[in-house]
Amino acid sequence: MKDEVAKTLHKEIERIAPEIVSTVQELVRIPSITGDEAKVGAVVAARCAAMGFKVEILESQPGRPNVLATWDTGVPGPTLLLNDHLDIVPPGPLEYWTHPPFAAEIADGCIYGRGTIDTKSGLTTLLMATRAIRDLGIPLRGKLVLLFTCDEEVGGKHGIQHVAAQGRLKADLALVAEPTTMQVEIATKARLTVEITTRGVATHGARPWLGQNAIEDMMIIMLRLQQEAKRLEGRRDALLGFATINIGIIEGGTVPNMVPNKCRLEVDRRCLPDETREGVYAEFGAILAELKALHPKLDASLRELIWWPGYKLDPDETVIGHLCAAYEDVIGTQPRIAGKDAGTDASWIHSLGGIPVVMFSPGNGLRAMNADENVNIDDLVKATQVVGQFVLRVLG
Ligand SMILES: [Zn+2]
Repeated sequence: MKDEVAKTLHKEIERIAPEIVSTVQELVRIPSITGDEAKVGAVVAARCAAMGFKVEILESQPGRPNVLATWDTGVPGPTLLLNDHLDIVPPGPLEYWTHPPFAAEIADGCIYGRGTIDTKSGLTTLLMATRAIRDLGIPLRGKLVLLFTCDEEVGGKHGIQHVAAQGRLKADLALVAEPTTMQVEIATKARLTVEITTRGVATHGARPWLGQNAIEDMMIIMLRLQQEAKRLEGRRDALLGFATINIGIIEGGTVPNMVPNKCRLEVDRRCLPDETREGVYAEFGAILAELKALHPKLDASLRELIWWPGYKLDPDETVIGHLCAAYEDVIGTQPRIAGKDAGTDASWIHSLGGIPVVMFSPGNGLRAMNADENVNIDDLVKATQVVGQFVLRVLG
């Protein structure tokens, strides 16, 4: 960190560390489970307004806010988008939590609670780095846009996709504060969820030879999908590992003394950057066609349920260089560059907005959504400092 402005910002963020912690606590104490983002949205919008940002609420449904806050410096320069989501997943069974999920208790240098990792600590790094810059009166150029979305955990139809449909997803580069364990993440696997249905012939369970068992037909398909998953492990992407298949839901049968005539499967396929939506869907189709040729009585159909795009940045993309340099300013070493296996708004920012986007935040991505989810306070403050230096490098 060579220049005085950068050093002053670094010290200011250290000074406001207690407030960074209390902001995470305030946000965690609002249980903004997907669909219930209005209250946390109002708190975040008020904070953006207090910093002098122009605040707009974009809603596709009443009570589902997307907070779009803009600071136009009036000086020509790039537009930088900082994004995170307002919603969280439910806490799950409470007996697994030793700290209540919405109490935001502090223990062993960590804040505990649902959403501490995914993603209220990330959201706080964006808010507080920006506030430190504003409080110090640091002059920037271009535009700084903060976008806090609803509905991310279920795909962002009312969130980032709505913002894009309104023509409001515009920036030259972006940072999404999803949990990355302090790594710089520049790629995400795509997700294709399909439904497979088998249909048989129902009859009395005492005479199974007279019917066609749809569950047993599904077993043939499931065993073949296991083989396919093994095959996928053989091809690896340097950042994202291998593509996967997860059989997540099975439904079938009515009573044990009846041959079932319908069975339904939902299968989650995570895809590598060189795989296409159509290509992966066609692979499922080819597997069913192959099995039908071997088992003429097999009646199976396929349907797409969810598509969530992935992306992978060119390693030379400027936004990566800025974030790595900011990380080095604060931490003193080069960050680890990695990819994410789960979907985030970053994929939509890349695919719908055409914006080069990186992900960075203090939360441990492998522990997001666990019971006793928690964020380390040292990492939280350091990540805020990294975001501050990143903004200076892009708009300074
Ligand atoms: Zn998230």
